[in-house]
Amino acid sequence: MHRVTEHKEDVSVVLRGSVAKFFVGAVIHWDRSVREAMDSINTPGFGVYIHIPFCRTKCNYCTFVIKPWRKDLAERYSRAVIQELDLFLSENEVSGVADTIYFGGGTPSLVPAEHIAALLSTCRRHFDVPQNCEISLEANPGTVTAEKAAAYRGCGITRISLGAQTFDERSLQAIGRDHTAGQVATSLALLREKGFENINVDLILGLPEQDEIQWAGNLEMVTQLEPPHISVYMLELEPKSPLYHLVARGVHRVPDEDAVSDWYLGALDHLPGHGYAQYEISNFALPGYECRHNLKYWQRRPVFGFGIGSHSFDGRARYANLAGMNAYLSRVEAGISPVEWRRVLDEKEELGETLFLGLRLRSGLNWEELSEGFGAEQVAEYEKTLRSMSNDGLVEWRDSSIRLTPRGMLLSNEVFQAFV
Ligand code: SF4
Repeated sequence: MHRVTEHKEDVSVVLRGSVAKFFVGAVIHWDRSVREAMDSINTPGFGVYIHIPFCRTKCNYCTFVIKPWRKDLAERYSRAVIQELDLFLSENEVSGVADTIYFGGGTPSLVPAEHIAALLSTCRRHFDVPQNCEISLEANPGTVTAEKAAAYRGCGITRISLGAQTFDERSLQAIGRDHTAGQVATSLALLREKGFENINVDLILGLPEQDEIQWAGNLEMVTQLEPPHISVYMLELEPKSPLYHLVARGVHRVPDEDAVSDWYLGALDHLPGHGYAQYEISNFALPGYECRHNLKYWQRRPVFGFGIGSHSFDGRARYANLAGMNAYLSRVEAGISPVEWRRVLDEKEELGETLFLGLRLRSGLNWEELSEGFGAEQVAEYEKTLRSMSNDGLVEWRDSSIRLTPRGMLLSNEVFQAFV
């Protein structure tokens, strides 16, 4: 859900989506505190990702594999994911603590809260889940009721990610969202009333009918609502999406890339001005509210995924589950692992991933640590590339620290291609 230019659990897709624009204007001052803050976020354990693929309707920009909401299918699916967790633990030995758990989708807030509670208690039965585990759930405005919010609190959810996307009704209608702008504030208030403090609000840049004034209004609105975490994704129109064809036929108009780039750069000024530090290309947080689960993807920590199409990384290999519902259910119900493919990474791939995932973070990379970890000879291969990116204004290289410039963030796809 809401992963417009990226999909959290699939590192290969992290490469999708950036706006191709040459920009040299904005300067973000190098801030050592960003690296120090990142270093202080302790994510030593592994993450657990649980995919809930159901949505009430399909947004017209979405190309993810989702399933229309069906109560009976959702019940069968939840049972199957519990079976998959049992199966996984009977076949694998996992050491360490599960210090983040993430329910992503789809729309996890559509399924009854009892399903979420049952999945969580299975995780607790199988994994060492510490008291301070970050347990996130993605929710769509309009699907959160007082009962559900209370039940989420009751079963231990600690963080909610709310897919607002925009506060403009015209844009919401144009992309086929099944909620109104007003429901974002209502859902946020409801969640707070039930004790949720750690809330993310997702926004999308480049939506149909968006203009400069509307985007500025979105930023104003989101900062007024004061969620401690804000994600800003850029819309990438994919030919497989219905929206692509609606735009091609002139039914909807999307803002041009230059405008979207300027608005993104504006957000890099606006959000820090309200206390939100940018810690990743698309993510901004008040101090201490960075998403620890998503940091695991960028820091290449192990994350085990469950459910259809989920992706995993065990520290050495990446692997993925079958994406088809029927194939997934029949495998799991027969007691067979639903893993479709598995690939052990070689050292060059590990280094490539470390480079492009690390560059997503504002804390960036540390050249000395890279040389120590991978060997000076291995990393030297990339030195020329990074030096030339530095000359082109795509990365800043100071002492041992390397990170993307604002222009590098806008051209991140092109930058990352050098490392894959
Ligand atoms: S809520 Fe919309 S964008 Fe998110 S997964 Fe469902 S259909 Fe896709």
